[in-house]
Amino acid sequence: MLRCVYVDLDGTLVGRGGSLLHDAEGNVSLMGARALEAAHRAGIEVVPVSGRRRDTVREPARAMGCTAYGFEIGGGLVIDGEDYWQTGELQPEDDQSVYDQIVSRGVIELLMRAFPGRLELHTPWHTGREVSVLFRGDVDVGEAQQLLDDNGSADLRLIDNGYLGGLAKGGTGLTTRQSDWGLDDDLTVRAYHLAPESVSKAAAVARHRRIRGYALEDTIAVGDSAEDVGMAASVGTFWLVGGDHTAGDEAVQLAIHEHRNVRQAEGGPGEAVYEAIVTTLMLGREAGT
Ligand SMILES: [Mg+2]
Repeated sequence: MLRCVYVDLDGTLVGRGGSLLHDAEGNVSLMGARALEAAHRAGIEVVPVSGRRRDTVREPARAMGCTAYGFEIGGGLVIDGEDYWQTGELQPEDDQSVYDQIVSRGVIELLMRAFPGRLELHTPWHTGREVSVLFRGDVDVGEAQQLLDDNGSADLRLIDNGYLGGLAKGGTGLTTRQSDWGLDDDLTVRAYHLAPESVSKAAAVARHRRIRGYALEDTIAVGDSAEDVGMAASVGTFWLVGGDHTAGDEAVQLAIHEHRNVRQAEGGPGEAVYEAIVTTLMLGREAGT
């Protein structure tokens, strides 16, 4: 019996401009809202797990009737108002967040020097963070990891969070144009998080599931990035958002071959979440569970 849905926000539940009421192209769509309605009516918990910082997950989560959420790629998890950290040896201290501790090592400069024109901070969303340093660009993650390893930061991981979706376009006034960025013009820009190696969406999902006491097979996750696909290890079934941006994402296509419980949704943002929830509920009814 389906009891919980873990859902990525940008490019998965919300569409263009981070809007719950628009699809990827900016057309009005109620599918995301209908997905939430279907879950709430069936008594299924919905847990947003996003790369966004705490306040920009907490407020939409509250508006969507959720009592738990993961922020900064699952490094932080809040359940009924209580914080849980997936940051391993690096823990928040009174005067220094995990983010502060990472930045004080000089790793931002290290990476940006190594990839001129290919990596920069993801302004204006790079501020107010507690765990991960948020970049945008297009780099070889293996090369970046080697650089970190060689410079005393083997305990950090550069996480690929997929192509930049709605946050880069439109929305509630927080607009930013690629032409204003300092990146080379030919890049298809992705989001990257630099975080402690233990940080992952999968770790946050596993912890929430344990705390709530949900069985693996009673949970699903929906997402659109390579990092999201990792949630497959912590749930019964992972649903990949449909559309060109996932079909054409090499990192996503590689990641799905590491799991046997990945299903491909037909729909894009919003619609895919509805499809995942309703299909799972119907399968459960047919099986009589
Ligand atoms: Mg996403």
